[in-house]
Amino acid sequence: MRTALVHHEDMTAARLLWEDPECEIERPERLTTALERLRQWGLEQRCLQLAAREASEAELGLVHSPEYVSLVRGTQTLSTRELQALSGQYDAVYFHPSTFHCARLAVGAALQLVDAVLTGAVHNGLALVRPPGHHSQRAAANGFCVFNNVAIAAKYAKQRHGLHRILIVDWDVHHGQGIQYIFEDDPSVLYFSWHRYEHGHFWPYLRESDADAVGQGQGRGFTVNLPWNQVGMGNADYVAAFLHVLLPVAFEFDPELVLISAGFDSAIGDPEGGYHLESLSQSVCMVVKALLGDPALPLSGAMEPHHRFGARKVGRAGGATPGLTAPASPHSALESIQSVRAAQAPHWKSLRQQGSTPILNPSTYSLERRASPVSPGGPKFKAAEAQASAALSSLLDQLHLNPTLPVRTAVALTALDAALVLPADVLRQEGSAPQEETRAWARLHEALAQDKALTALGKVLHLLNGILDGQVSSGIAATPEPALAPTLDVVIRRSLSHGARRLLCVAVGQLDRPTDLADDGRNLWLNIRGKEAAAPSKFQVSVPLPGTTGGFVSCVLALVLPLAYGFQPDLVLVVLGPAHGLQVPQAALLASLLRGPAGGRVLVLLEQGSTSQLAGVLARVWQGEAPPGLGPFSMASPEDTQALISLRGQLEAEWKMLPVAAPQVP
Ligand code: ZN
Repeated sequence: MRTALVHHEDMTAARLLWEDPECEIERPERLTTALERLRQWGLEQRCLQLAAREASEAELGLVHSPEYVSLVRGTQTLSTRELQALSGQYDAVYFHPSTFHCARLAVGAALQLVDAVLTGAVHNGLALVRPPGHHSQRAAANGFCVFNNVAIAAKYAKQRHGLHRILIVDWDVHHGQGIQYIFEDDPSVLYFSWHRYEHGHFWPYLRESDADAVGQGQGRGFTVNLPWNQVGMGNADYVAAFLHVLLPVAFEFDPELVLISAGFDSAIGDPEGGYHLESLSQSVCMVVKALLGDPALPLSGAMEPHHRFGARKVGRAGGATPGLTAPASPHSALESIQSVRAAQAPHWKSLRQQGSTPILNPSTYSLERRASPVSPGGPKFKAAEAQASAALSSLLDQLHLNPTLPVRTAVALTALDAALVLPADVLRQEGSAPQEETRAWARLHEALAQDKALTALGKVLHLLNGILDGQVSSGIAATPEPALAPTLDVVIRRSLSHGARRLLCVAVGQLDRPTDLADDGRNLWLNIRGKEAAAPSKFQVSVPLPGTTGGFVSCVLALVLPLAYGFQPDLVLVVLGPAHGLQVPQAALLASLLRGPAGGRVLVLLEQGSTSQLAGVLARVWQGEAPPGLGPFSMASPEDTQALISLRGQLEAEWKMLPVAAPQVP
């Protein structure tokens, strides 16, 4: 089993015992609905199921004060009236006689997951818990959170397993100030949070949720806040944040463990708070699918960060200020990304490598215009809810149109690679395309007439047909070297004549773009290890292969993936040609990341004979194993940085996922 699912039904016991519109949304059905949906989708059965244990008081003490732990322990015997009075001392919290038990189970579930991953029992996993944790502080409950599950898990991983570098990614729509406070001076825990901020007008209304809060003392640079100042952020905004902030910093930090504080309140369909049961349970399912290694759905919508003028206002009980936000900016997402890159650039080399001249926006935090909350029953809330439901059902339609494919990974190799050892769940494809079809394509190139080349072409075409017909998600095929370029030419033509609307070719090594291929926007040709950085057209880009880890990561995150996500291909071809120069971990990372933009549809074409090790690694990565490490981070060379800067300069106007800063206003 590669993925653990940790849960305990006792965690549904705590519930609100009095009227409180702010707190009633945190209810037991959040867990039961998610679990039901996991069963319905057949996902629970694919996971290693673990019953959560209670965390010990010593484990709670890794983060919380003894007085606070004893106060929460004491709530088990309080009357309802006393519970309500105590709850009133905190911001958006309620206690129930079973809260202490539930909260210890929530922490214990996180610790079990850490043990399961770090002992190698599983690759990854999800702990399905309540109460949540990221707002909870050393001596205070806050925002439904009692004990800080993820913070305790990080401390435990350091103490019990001797880890030195842990990355916490907090994708909840609210800022996890609790985690930030606990680790703000600790360089061994990197805390990244993106959150709705609206210049301080969104709960928890804190100055320290802004981009310029970077940590204290030794911990400077290890708190990374990405505040969204407008609502309605979509796929392009989040992908831009991933590529231009989170991933560069994460690769440079090189964590031994990643913990995700996975609140689902920014998901489609949720008007506010992570408490829309349908949206929440679909989100949980999609995350478990991703952990299991199933390809993600292709992203929908225009791939241009926050280009909407006059963002729509969506209410949130206890937090939003509709009509009172700052004037809508068409580049709000890029402004946020620019601010955080500027604030973090002194601490992270990778943010200084991409050639932008970051200018830190003056802080725009202000509390003066905070308005009263929107009531959940009010007309604005209802309208937002209706809009969110419509968005969710369109996403669900897309899910039905893109079911999980029968074969996740297929490998079509020839006799020369017969010794290759593959994971049991990878399909070793033996079949070939019909002879007539193969021969017809082979007539285009002399090099394909030879027996070995023709046999390989039949296998490649059969695999390609499987991908184009939706039977296979990703595939690996090989061909004798002299036939590689002609085979690639056939694969491109076959794909474009058989339904692929947009085909991305990532050609690594000495490979030329087929000369008579139309430059009509259906094919994006990206040559890595080109002789020079050049972009003769929007759809033909060439970049030299960087010589260092940092240079390679920058090239992938700042150029290859922004182009790939911006292009929204149906299929990605990755070709490792003569003298491609990629190390196995680099090739594995590239093939793994390029599954994202095309919903998992990737075909890798290799040279026959020298491919066994690489094909095995790629197949295992696509089946859910982490790619092998790239080695120690080393800074990009000035030449590599210059190549990237020059390409970005040429391409930024056309490819909207490339910019890392808002355009300068004259
Ligand atoms: Zn939240």
